[in-house]
Amino acid sequence: MSQLSEKVSFIEKLPKRSLIIVSNREPYIHKKIGQFIKVSRPAGGLTSAMDEVLNAIGGKWVAWGSGSADRETVDNKSCVPVPPNRPRYTLKRVWLTPEEVDNYYHGYSNHVLWPLCHITLEKVYFRKKYWDDYQKVNQAFANAILEEADKRSIVWIHDYHLCLLPRMLRRINPELTIAHFWHIPWPDYSVFRVCPQAEEIIRALLSNDLIGFQIPLFVNNFIDCVCNLLEDARVDRARSNIIYKGHITKLQAFPISVDYKKFDSLASSPRTVKTIEQLKDRYNLYDKYIGIGVDRLEYTKGLIKRFQAIDLFFDRYPEYRGRFTFIQITVPTRIKEPYISYKATLEKLIREINKKYSTDTWMPIIYRDTKAEHEDLVAFYRMADVAIISSIYDGMNLVAKEFVASQVDMKGVLLLSEFAGAAEELDGAILVNPYDLEEFSECIRKALSMSRAERRSRMKTLRMQVKERDIYKWISDILEEISILYSMKPYRYRYVFKYLEKIPRDNLFLFLDYDGTLTPIVRTPEKAVLSEDMRSIIRMLKERMPVAIVSGRGLDDVKERVGLPDIIYAGNHGAEIWDGEKLVVSPELGDNKRILEQIIREMREALSSVRGVIIEEKGITASIHYRKVQSRDLGKVFDIFWSTAERYKDLFRITSGKKVFEIRPYGIWNKGDAVKWIIKNLGKDRMPIYIGDDVTDEDAFKILRGRGIGISVGRSEEADYYLRNQKEVKRFLVWLGDLDT
Ligand code: UDP
Repeated sequence: MSQLSEKVSFIEKLPKRSLIIVSNREPYIHKKIGQFIKVSRPAGGLTSAMDEVLNAIGGKWVAWGSGSADRETVDNKSCVPVPPNRPRYTLKRVWLTPEEVDNYYHGYSNHVLWPLCHITLEKVYFRKKYWDDYQKVNQAFANAILEEADKRSIVWIHDYHLCLLPRMLRRINPELTIAHFWHIPWPDYSVFRVCPQAEEIIRALLSNDLIGFQIPLFVNNFIDCVCNLLEDARVDRARSNIIYKGHITKLQAFPISVDYKKFDSLASSPRTVKTIEQLKDRYNLYDKYIGIGVDRLEYTKGLIKRFQAIDLFFDRYPEYRGRFTFIQITVPTRIKEPYISYKATLEKLIREINKKYSTDTWMPIIYRDTKAEHEDLVAFYRMADVAIISSIYDGMNLVAKEFVASQVDMKGVLLLSEFAGAAEELDGAILVNPYDLEEFSECIRKALSMSRAERRSRMKTLRMQVKERDIYKWISDILEEISILYSMKPYRYRYVFKYLEKIPRDNLFLFLDYDGTLTPIVRTPEKAVLSEDMRSIIRMLKERMPVAIVSGRGLDDVKERVGLPDIIYAGNHGAEIWDGEKLVVSPELGDNKRILEQIIREMREALSSVRGVIIEEKGITASIHYRKVQSRDLGKVFDIFWSTAERYKDLFRITSGKKVFEIRPYGIWNKGDAVKWIIKNLGKDRMPIYIGDDVTDEDAFKILRGRGIGISVGRSEEADYYLRNQKEVKRFLVWLGDLDT
């Protein structure tokens, strides 16, 4: 438990044994081998990470019992304790007939929803019997879950096989906390409307409390579908909430990832070094550039396009013949049409290319059509000079991240389709449009001829991103959201008024966050203007009690925006305080401010030749934005950034966000520290009330535990009470000050 709680920070906040995970595939399969029963575990980072979670906190996993000995290993409730040798949780199996598997799984899931969501419309094949059984099987899952759940249960559903489940559950048990992660893309409305059950599916999904998607694009696509299909749904785009029939569903992107440490350490092992040598001997790869492709045999992976591009590459750049070998590892997972024909076409193309360019001692493509285990895959990943991912549409693509995590020598280049979800996150890859064959073949050349220094700085950036956002961060982020939803009980809203009724107003100290609390969240920070109404409320309130505004903005910025004298301001997330008369700065700041200025000066100078870099100076922290930098200049930006940042890494925390690097001194005050300082120095005997909406406000809520009250605007983990929006904040403030407005 403690080991996992280091990796999954929110796990301890979840009530024990309340989590029910639901997926089509099961984490343990019992199979009959002769007269013995063998337990196998499907490989995959996700299954093993979820298994770890349930091992730590107990709970249940509901899934289709697909193994040949599954039935004889369960009790009369279709349950079996797992893991088999040291049971920690319960696996409950749902039984399907072969016909149901055909219709629900191969039919509706894989012949309708899969191609639809991957925008391969000519592959969509709809039959009524598929839909009938899809409903039936979803109901069977719902019944199984309802047998096990009580009001306090948290149900976490996985994927597109179980779209109808949330509604079926909510109808019978309205108090459940239900979250759904959609692993594949969500297409835009012009595509989704092809689905004959489009409206029904959306309605059912809106019974979830939370729907997770891989990237923000899929969230937006889903919202567009809701807007087009359901007239009576209300959409709060700023907060990504949908209110439908009185129920709120939160939508959020949570990009899935891999176990970075596992791949990094497997790739560094002596076993891998040995395997690389053996592979090089076996395939005559010494002195060759090596390319790698690892995929399920799947038309959405753009395999035909990949090999057409490789063909064109050898045609256009003959100097690489005999010097570049591409290894393709393909696992057939769905052995049915259209996969059988796709395999035949792919293999024919590979044979033709090999025939066209092979010499006596060299063959351009090595093709393996059996599954490789991760222990062996890392050798391919590590030795490759380029990995090619050519998906025509892909939810995320974990191979891209596995390759990065295994690149311990930092010499390989990631050539990544811009239509894979991973492209949103992985800055440092060469992005390619797999439909543009000339450009694709040119990108292969670019990858192979890239300088050692550029490959290294790109890979270093990529590795930092995957390391920071690994599979455990993904689980933590989702569990955090789930635990907030879980703890948001309606009584907390009503009782904030009741609680404060008894406390004399003149004994209070009011702390207010700015953005999202006093002003609505807007697209660009400059647009968050305080309304005259709100300003006059604060003006009146400060006559009754001391008021402090605590903001993430720079101190001068927030002072100017609020524009009221005689109140306290804390800026830069609490690192700078204006106590009404003088400036107080975080004690750790000292020299760091001067050093940060120096870093910024150096970076400005070094990056001046690159167009599109924006360096945002916030006094004590800084952000280097590269969203507008052309992809051909990215390598240079990373190179310059790291060569400067590396020297200061002991003093400053360097993190990466969306197309941005953040630099922040270690140990400076956060909002909680600022609140602590203000209470101690300016309001010792008063009862503090803090209202805020941002994650950074959680530090303040924590500080107030036991000595004041925290009120969040919207969801929060640490606050005591909550208000739903700025309108309620206003109402609350008017009430608090007995104001006459
Ligand atoms: N994989 C594997 N052995 C192979 C080929 C693939 O273990 O021979 C694994 C690969 O390591 C990755 C997964 O299959 O974890 C493929 O995931 P991805 O997100 O790339 O595509 P998906 O199959 O989910 O569409």
